[in-house]
Amino acid sequence: MKFGSIEQSSVPDAVLSLQEPSTRFHRNFEQQDTPSRMLPPPISHWLSAFSLRNLNRVSCLVRPSPLPAPRNSHTRSGMELKAVVSALEKLAPPSLAESWDNVGLLVEPSPPFAVRSVLLTNDLTEAVLEEALAKKVDFIVSYHPPIFRALKRLTGGWKERVIVKAVEGRVALYSPHTACDCVSGGVNDWLAKAIGPASVSPLSHSLSAQFPGAWAHRVEFSVGSEADLGSILAELNSLQGVDVHYHTARSGAGEQTRVSVNCMAPALTRTMKLLARESAIYRTVQVLQLNKPPVPDAGPGRICTLSDPVTIATAVQRIKTHLRLSHVRLALGARCTLDSLVLSVAVCAGSGSSVLNGVPADLFLTGEMSHHDVLDAVAVGTSVVLCDHSNSERGFLSELKEALTGQLEGKVKVQLSETDRDPLEIV
Ligand SMILES: [Zn+2]
Repeated sequence: MKFGSIEQSSVPDAVLSLQEPSTRFHRNFEQQDTPSRMLPPPISHWLSAFSLRNLNRVSCLVRPSPLPAPRNSHTRSGMELKAVVSALEKLAPPSLAESWDNVGLLVEPSPPFAVRSVLLTNDLTEAVLEEALAKKVDFIVSYHPPIFRALKRLTGGWKERVIVKAVEGRVALYSPHTACDCVSGGVNDWLAKAIGPASVSPLSHSLSAQFPGAWAHRVEFSVGSEADLGSILAELNSLQGVDVHYHTARSGAGEQTRVSVNCMAPALTRTMKLLARESAIYRTVQVLQLNKPPVPDAGPGRICTLSDPVTIATAVQRIKTHLRLSHVRLALGARCTLDSLVLSVAVCAGSGSSVLNGVPADLFLTGEMSHHDVLDAVAVGTSVVLCDHSNSERGFLSELKEALTGQLEGKVKVQLSETDRDPLEIV
């Protein structure tokens, strides 16, 4: 079966949207007025008829909506799903997320759907989902995306079971992941606090999602005569994918008009062909590549320059205290001892190799790094502290809880999972 096609007889009148970046389809679904209408049909009822490829978010829309009122009994007034998503996007804009990531709303229950209780977790394991169902939570924020790799079917594995149970239980799933890593005041800034007073900045900068929009290049040139200007503007304005501006400025004894042409990528060659016909103009042409500007204070990883240098032993103790861990793993840099001084610390929550490799610093702090990446760091005199992957992330959820509670104006109960934990422990 071709992706996105539907077997007519299996899902009558359904409005069901399975979204992926470029694909979306809808059908109408008629709910039967039987006792089972008090609960949505199991997801297998909806999905067994579909061959799914590259499914990385699930959105089920049912119109009209005979579905029951939200299933929890909390006394809070609750908020629309859209408002909760909007609050999360405000705290960690999805535009900051890495391009390979899968952030945002991943499971959207059918409307009407009010959110009264949110559970925050680092990882959405089966234990955490059971906790959420027991607590009658209707919205889970899982820092790591519960749907990451494309799913072809929702059977068999524990990750698929989690998604099926969330849909059957009418629980929305949302993941902020690398948007939360990059945003100012996010996971990496929380982790950087472990080091103590320091000036902190991103290891690289996220780029603005808005500017320069669709324009890839700007072509600039000067025109001496009004007659030339009129004809060249007419020709430029006839091109697709360009935006033309000009202004006249005094140049020496006379006046010149400076023309700027914003070009979408395919329009650059057409613009240059047109300008090449006029050699006097062509000699003044400059082509500028338009890059998105960096977002101040946002980006992956952090470099921290301590206000006062501390010994490695002190840095390790501060890290343990901040992360509430009794043990971390330490690799001393070449020629370092526990009494060596630390002035600069590069920090990356989670798995830090790709972000930290090659960064000049006295100390790396991250959740995990490969053996060989640790050897590379140690060889150049950089000590490494590893605290296990999610231990370098989970503590941020307490800050997220406070921030989200404020954003939701107290209308939604926000709580931390009690069963979420790093799978590794020192025994
Ligand atoms: Zn992680």
